[in-house]
Amino acid sequence: MTNRHGRNWIWPARRYAIYARDGHRCLYCGKGRGDPDVSHLTIDHLIARDAGGGNASANLVTACDRCNSRRQHKTLRAWLADLATTGVDVDAVRRRIRRARRAKVDLAMGRRLVANQRQTKCEARALASWPIDSPVDGAPS
Ligand SMILES: [Zn+2]
Repeated sequence: MTNRHGRNWIWPARRYAIYARDGHRCLYCGKGRGDPDVSHLTIDHLIARDAGGGNASANLVTACDRCNSRRQHKTLRAWLADLATTGVDVDAVRRRIRRARRAKVDLAMGRRLVANQRQTKCEARALASWPIDSPVDGAPS
């Protein structure tokens, strides 16, 4: 049994396919990885599971960690009202959500992204294990 409340409730390929569908940006604030306030992207349920929302792709959107934790258990309506008070263009958010719900989730793309990410991590680990001051190709030190 996977942990429903951890990151493992959704297959990595599907998670990344949804990120790709949403342009790797938070559908609420429009920010992506690399923006100063965003440390990572998450998947948010438009209608919470507790409120009867399922795990169908049309109920799942990309959200930055900041928006996801700020939303907490608010309904979508309450959350959009909350966003509006911070100057976010909520009509634009509604349009992004509508577009995302209609768009196709490309699982093959998700699998490619997962594979790329694993490779990048692997290369980063290999580089980190290299002693920086070791001579390269037996060059004299
Ligand atoms: Zn956000």
